[in-house]
Amino acid sequence: MRRLITTNMTEIKLTVQAPTLVNRDFVKPTLCGPGPCDVWPSVNEALTKPVISPICDEHFYVLDDIRAGLKYVFQTNCDTVLALSGSGHGGMETVINNLVGPGETLLVAKRGFWCERALEMAKRYGINTITTTVPMNETFSLQQLENELRKHRPTALFIVHGDSSTGIVQNLKSVGELCQRYGTLLLVDTVVSLVGVPFFMDDWKIDAVYTSTQKAFSGPAGISPVAFSDRALNKINNRTHQPPFYFDVKLLSQQWNCYGSTRVYHHTLSSPLLWALRQCLQEVIKETLPRSWARHAATTKHFLKRVEQLSLKTFVPKPEDRLMTVTTVVLPKGYDYLQFSKYMREKYNILIFPGIGQTVGKTLRIGLMGVNSTIQVADAVADAVAGTLIALKKSSL
Ligand code: PMP
Repeated sequence: MRRLITTNMTEIKLTVQAPTLVNRDFVKPTLCGPGPCDVWPSVNEALTKPVISPICDEHFYVLDDIRAGLKYVFQTNCDTVLALSGSGHGGMETVINNLVGPGETLLVAKRGFWCERALEMAKRYGINTITTTVPMNETFSLQQLENELRKHRPTALFIVHGDSSTGIVQNLKSVGELCQRYGTLLLVDTVVSLVGVPFFMDDWKIDAVYTSTQKAFSGPAGISPVAFSDRALNKINNRTHQPPFYFDVKLLSQQWNCYGSTRVYHHTLSSPLLWALRQCLQEVIKETLPRSWARHAATTKHFLKRVEQLSLKTFVPKPEDRLMTVTTVVLPKGYDYLQFSKYMREKYNILIFPGIGQTVGKTLRIGLMGVNSTIQVADAVADAVAGTLIALKKSSL
């Protein structure tokens, strides 16, 4: 029913009346899934800093700081380094659509959920896709990748460094050299690996990389750091296709002053997210990358030991293939993965996830990342897993 509202002699007919938004109680769980992960206290504070205009000096200083921090975390001296407005998916879209045009070929090293996303995106841009696969809990060998590169000579190879759907880390050493030999660009997803495990963009000759802030960075989602090599930049400058305006790295690199002579408006970046990313980088700089990698490895190895003491198996058989940010654990026969995760939340207020895509019904996914990568949190999760195993045994077996 329409109601008439009278203000200062004017009658305004509202089609939709103001809704009542109920404030619900929310007890924040400890976020130990494959992401998002809990946020550093200093990052929470940074989120409340003032909003700044996208054309004022303060804004550009923040962009400069972020670029300097990103060069450190990506380990690159390349200039085309910036952050996109959008979550990890935005980074994925950007590296694909800036470097591979319609009718060109993208080889996807296919294992796990995120490669499916890359394939789906590439198809929407009219890109030819080909795939090479391995079993869900294994990594790609150089030989397999070389065979495919030699056969297809694709424009680009897409590969996931840290796979949160399977708990795998892909060894990337020498993959970049291989790609260069066949005239192929190397595109890498580091959403769940960067800062948590070693990554060297320049040394590994990676051409395009993206990440996200809600994983080992321990920040909020919504801003996606990306970096492009000089080889990738050459492709961007000489391509004939037009990527979407919002994700066009040619335009974005001007806004981010990547080459030292442009400070222009492209779109309004979210100030809270810029402040938050700057603070995430500040945390990594304070700790240093090698210490952050060592902390993640120590925490996850400790957690794996606790899990093995419970007679549980890890989904990834080879220790060197196990990702040190997200661990995949196989439950004994008879347990239901969804019920297990729900019980962990209800009884212990710890959020972990069951599998996704191909790993549904095959594994639990437990993330010990960023601020949660500590022995205390690992022990709390392991204790809760032990309690849940006992509690659900009678009802499941
Ligand atoms: N790649 C990987 C490896 C991921 O784990 C995720 C998110 N879980 C994504 C991409 C997509 O990131 P987002 O949800 O931030 O868009």
